[in-house]
Amino acid sequence: MIQTSDLINLISDLVQINSINSWLISDGHGEAEIATYIENWLSPLNIEFYREFIADRQVNLVARLPGKGGGKSLCIYAHLDTVGCELWKERAFLPRVEGDRLYGLGSADDKGHCALALLVLKSIAMQSNELLNGDLWLALLADEEGTSNGAQQFIKKVKPKAAIILEPNALGNIVVTHQGFGWIDIIVKGKAAHGSAPELGIDSIAYMGEVITRLHHLDYQVFAPNPHPLNGKTVFHTSMIKGGTDYATYPAECILSIEIGTQPGETINDRIQNIETIFHEIRTKFPDFSAEVNVKLARDPFKSQGCELLWNILSDETNKILGELPNAVGENAWCDAALFQQAGIPTLMMGASGENFHAPDEWVSISELIKLGDILEGTIRRFCNE
Ligand SMILES: [Zn+2]
Repeated sequence: MIQTSDLINLISDLVQINSINSWLISDGHGEAEIATYIENWLSPLNIEFYREFIADRQVNLVARLPGKGGGKSLCIYAHLDTVGCELWKERAFLPRVEGDRLYGLGSADDKGHCALALLVLKSIAMQSNELLNGDLWLALLADEEGTSNGAQQFIKKVKPKAAIILEPNALGNIVVTHQGFGWIDIIVKGKAAHGSAPELGIDSIAYMGEVITRLHHLDYQVFAPNPHPLNGKTVFHTSMIKGGTDYATYPAECILSIEIGTQPGETINDRIQNIETIFHEIRTKFPDFSAEVNVKLARDPFKSQGCELLWNILSDETNKILGELPNAVGENAWCDAALFQQAGIPTLMMGASGENFHAPDEWVSISELIKLGDILEGTIRRFCNE
């Protein structure tokens, strides 16, 4: 049982520490300082922990409560990093409670869940007469808001029998699938020439217009009418564009950066195929059209597998606390659940409500976190003793 005041105090301490992802934002502090705070918090509790170096300013903080043997190991995950706070920097690190809401950068995504997981671990560790049979891992990882380096390192070494990923969501939802994504550059090649020599120049920006129009069609004519039943419409938006040198010259190159989703059963190759088909169409109309695709980063979608036991226990414990069974839901956003599942670890994801993720005045529901704590504690005791 977790005390509300302990939870508010711990989240407030974590919110005050800058752990802005240092890959995403160049002056972000990364996870080193927040990891030190948590090490100091864990030290008097007689819980094993270690820090895992990931990259400059990026660290994982991993704790373990060893079981007495004969049970199943379970990993509870939350991430230590946050996005930036340019639009509200004067108040982002000042936690504030109003009613049920705790405001502050990362309060919901994901420091409220880091704090909750630590308090659940402490609560279980304190009851030494009730040692678990299986190991309980707490993975507070780096770089979720960047390229997921923290999760990639962690799953290489630790292989629990199941994992619960804590990320904000309406309490009562259990996420069983989410989209994958690609960050892709499309490069249209033109030919530089004097602006008054159209017979020599090839206008890469005008041709990029042809590409963008067809991508937009793909979005509203193919993706929009065919949403995944849980994950919704396949993600697509343009992100950045650059090209050309000056008013008087045909632009030799235009680069468009996009974000595009993949659904379970698909890979980034399906999206590359969509883009190649667009190139082919344009080339039929304009034979001097020339373009290429450059995948900067791609992550596969998540579909939970092998989770029957964890689902049954989690669903029963949710029912005990909320008075109703959980809903299996999907998400259009990507998170580290996909990497855990790909490593062969049966994975489910849940969390407490909040709003304004990655935006000013992010908040988390304190009462939902408390209920989530009860659900997690019950689930851990049963799963690890199976
Ligand atoms: Zn998150």
